[in-house]
Amino acid sequence: MGGMFDCVFCKIREGKIAANFLHEDDKCFAFRDINPMAPTHILIVPKKHIATLNDMTEEDAPTMGHLLVVAKQLAASEGVAEEGWRTVFNVNRGGGQAVFHIHLHLLGGRTFGWPPG
Ligand code: 5GP
Ligand code: ZN
Repeated sequence: MGGMFDCVFCKIREGKIAANFLHEDDKCFAFRDINPMAPTHILIVPKKHIATLNDMTEEDAPTMGHLLVVAKQLAASEGVAEEGWRTVFNVNRGGGQAVFHIHLHLLGGRTFGWPPG
C-alpha cells in the first residue's frame, strides 16, 4: 500500500509535504487543493497508490465508493450540498490528470457549466 517514490499525494499522506487536511480515515484522506478552481476545492485521495482510474480493480471498489461518502460529508460541512457541487476524476493527460495517484475533486461554491471544458 502506498509509498510510491516521487508521488506528491503519497508524500502528503506521509506528512512529507504539508497540506490543509480536512479528513483522514483508514481508507482515504482529504485536503484543500493548492490551486483552487472554485471557492471549495477539495481532493479526496485513497491511501492506496493507484495511478489512474484505468488501474483500479474490483478489490478497490469499496475504497472508491467510500471516497464518494466522504465527498458528500465534506460537501455538507462546506455548506455547498444544497446549492450544488461537482465531482471529477481526471483520467490520464487527455482527461486533464496531472498527479498520477487517483483523486476525487470536490468542487463547490459557484455554479458549474455543462459540458465541462
Ligand atoms: P489532476 O489534474 O491530476 O486531476 O489534479 C491534481 C490537483 O492536485 C490539481 O488541482 C493541483 O492543484 C493539485 N495539487 C498538486 N500538487 C499539490 C500539492 O502539493 N498540494 C495540494 N494541496 N494540491 C496539489
Ligand atoms: Zn501515490
